[in-house]
Amino acid sequence: MSDSFVIVCRRKSVKRCLICGYLGSYLCDYPVKKNKTGTCGRPLCARCRVAIRDGVDLCPPHARMSASIKKTTVTERRIR
Ligand SMILES: [Zn+2]
Ligand SMILES: [Zn+2]
Repeated sequence: MSDSFVIVCRRKSVKRCLICGYLGSYLCDYPVKKNKTGTCGRPLCARCRVAIRDGVDLCPPHARMSASIKKTTVTERRIR
């Protein structure tokens, strides 16, 4: 069974989580115009990813950004 482990390690699609270094199979879906893919694309593991919707995962920094944007929008509406 050791052969299968070698194959997993060589997979290019599996990157190490940016936060904890554990193997991550999730990618941040936060929209980033600078990137060719159009998304942040940071590798994340199941523990460090932040699922804001079904099928949409964000890295912790971008999850905070999206949360702060929502809060400011709500505050502006209350003032008006
Ligand atoms: Zn992680
Ligand atoms: Zn991100």
